[in-house]
Amino acid sequence: MLNIDLHSHSTVSDGLLTPTQLVEHAAARGVEVLALTDHDDIGGLEEARKAADKNNVLFIDGVEISVSWRGQTLHIVGLGIDPAHPQLIEGLSTIRQGRTARARNIAAQLDKFGIHGSFEGACRNTGNGRLIGRMHFARFLVEQGYAKDIRTVFRKYLVKGKPGYAPHQWVSLSDAVNWIRSSGGRAVIAHPGRYKLGKNALEELLLEFQILGGEAIEVITASHTPEQSLLFANHSRRLGLLASRGSDFHGPGESYFDLGGMPPLPANCAPVWHDWPGLM
Ligand code: AMP
Ligand code: MN
Ligand code: MN
Ligand code: MN
Repeated sequence: MLNIDLHSHSTVSDGLLTPTQLVEHAAARGVEVLALTDHDDIGGLEEARKAADKNNVLFIDGVEISVSWRGQTLHIVGLGIDPAHPQLIEGLSTIRQGRTARARNIAAQLDKFGIHGSFEGACRNTGNGRLIGRMHFARFLVEQGYAKDIRTVFRKYLVKGKPGYAPHQWVSLSDAVNWIRSSGGRAVIAHPGRYKLGKNALEELLLEFQILGGEAIEVITASHTPEQSLLFANHSRRLGLLASRGSDFHGPGESYFDLGGMPPLPANCAPVWHDWPGLM
């Protein structure tokens, strides 16, 4: 069976490895098919594809788009997108501008709490200054000794009800799915087990997503327990959604799964790659 990892991050968003380093790490780990899915940015795809060609890895152009749905943040992964698609490029650029505004608000919240200089500190942790996210604040707060690790920092700061939280409106589910689809990609709900949705809201999300043209959900991902993987495998089969597998790798030592180091998809679901040329 091929080792396929369809969710990963580089320094273009909030990962620790450059696109080239990420691909080399994937190849060394035996990953045969890799998607780079940076948050709201596709600027790493060209470099990653070159490295993948050199390292004999089949590369999939990807992205992970931040969405607001019923007041919650959801992540929609796009696989097989066209990085030159004008509407996608424009949409992602707007999201990144929103991220910078949110980062100022996060820094203002931390200021009130007596933590100063966090905007500049977080900026220093970005790979290219184009995209800023909570992970860059998290690394700054750990460096400054406010928490021992990234997990703890997210528990104590940067989330609802804690210092350093700033609410934010991302793009709509329909915009995200449309950009992915119109650029030739397949839309995937990332880590569905992570959202705080009751049974009914989850069902409504899955149906709305399908009506919009969404085709897949992540079944295997770092944030799912084995029970959640089985649950979403069943949802996938019941609703005719394809199933995806990804590590959500951000960097050595920071991620639960290393690249390609996750369990295989449960046997009862149809892989999102079932009709990709050269696979299966
Ligand atoms: P943002 O898109 O800027 O709001 O940041 C979301 C990112 O923060 C996720 O993709 C993860 O990389 C990271 N993150 C969020 N929650 C946690 C958590 N509880 N523990 C570790 N990392 C987290
Ligand atoms: Mn991230
Ligand atoms: Mn995510
Ligand atoms: Mn991710």
